[in-house]
Amino acid sequence: MKQIGDKLVTCPCCSSNACYESEFTTQEGPIKTWLCMTCGFTSNTTMTLDSEGLKQTLELTADLIKDLKQDHDNLAWFPTAITMPDKGMIFPEPIKNTKDWRWTVVKAIPIPAEEQEKFPDPTNPGTFYKNKMDMKNLKRFDKLCFMDAAEELGMFDRNLIENAN
Ligand SMILES: [Zn+2]
Repeated sequence: MKQIGDKLVTCPCCSSNACYESEFTTQEGPIKTWLCMTCGFTSNTTMTLDSEGLKQTLELTADLIKDLKQDHDNLAWFPTAITMPDKGMIFPEPIKNTKDWRWTVVKAIPIPAEEQEKFPDPTNPGTFYKNKMDMKNLKRFDKLCFMDAAEELGMFDRNLIENAN
């Protein structure tokens, strides 16, 4: 998969103009992906409503994320969930009920060297994780503040996005 371009477009979910569109070439043809920096919803051109890919995604997806699905122009959009082992995680989390949810940010913290042997990495036998998710220190962000959540994790340089706008 090779990225051939990106730009900011208007988000069909929240109407902000900070929806990041990326275009890729793949063996199956061109794909566009979207991630809105305001509402955190994501989609791509393979997520058509009647597609096998969407069916599979729905089987693997948490109920909250499924419940928040939006349909626009025959594509399904979902709130994103991001895990970066070195930095942390961002995921949508219900507060009282599905409609009342927030972005939750959990940061990765270093595991002390003497404790790392308690955290084996199953994908690389014989190696151990150097970071763990600090579940005791959650930060929550409003639904339309995905950019703040992403910035909290150091995922994006806010200036780059705002200058491109
Ligand atoms: Zn949006």
